[in-house]
Amino acid sequence: MSMQSEVVSLVNISGQKWPPRQRAYFGSLVIQSPEPGQAYAVTPVRACTSVMDLGDKRSMEIRLSAREIADDLVREINGDSGEGSFHGVFVATGPEPTAVELAEARKKLEEFQLRLVEAADLEWERSHNMMFITDLERRAARELRVEKPWLYDRKPMADCPACGEKIKPGVAVCRSCRAILDREKAAEFGLVEREEKGGEEAGKSSERTPEKGKRK
Ligand SMILES: [Zn+2]
Repeated sequence: MSMQSEVVSLVNISGQKWPPRQRAYFGSLVIQSPEPGQAYAVTPVRACTSVMDLGDKRSMEIRLSAREIADDLVREINGDSGEGSFHGVFVATGPEPTAVELAEARKKLEEFQLRLVEAADLEWERSHNMMFITDLERRAARELRVEKPWLYDRKPMADCPACGEKIKPGVAVCRSCRAILDREKAAEFGLVEREEKGGEEAGKSSERTPEKGKRK
């Protein structure tokens, strides 16, 4: 076995922290996360010897290369969030990641995060319910530095008195049934015509109509 495969560098470009990885052959391993201001963190992974129990008190030693162990860890960390899942951990070809390796990882992470944000947008559009937005989706939006209504806890939604749909607090018009909920505010934004003085007279004249009949 060549010396190069005895230690490989597991690179992490994400600020995310994972619980230590447990393996019978090395015990516990903490994947390092970059400190603020750092682009990445390196966790060295060493080759190990695993003892395989064959039964009948027989066992076999299996040599696992550092690369095999690192690949296994990368699969475990990156692969738990559906298709194209990537959390920013990869195995570098050298002791330190190259600029190309880092750029590729950043692109892959960003693509995955954009997909998470899109999924959250769709969910929000459908349900307007924070409960359905996952921590993973929130983290993706924060890391991409995009502002989303589903990122924050908002005032609870109210029910429209006309149609019963959920409405944001303080809106002038219900987006479902177009009922005017705040006439003054609606007029301010040109959504309804302002009540004019002439309107009052028009009201009076319509009231007069039945009076005419009485006079006769
Ligand atoms: Zn309504």
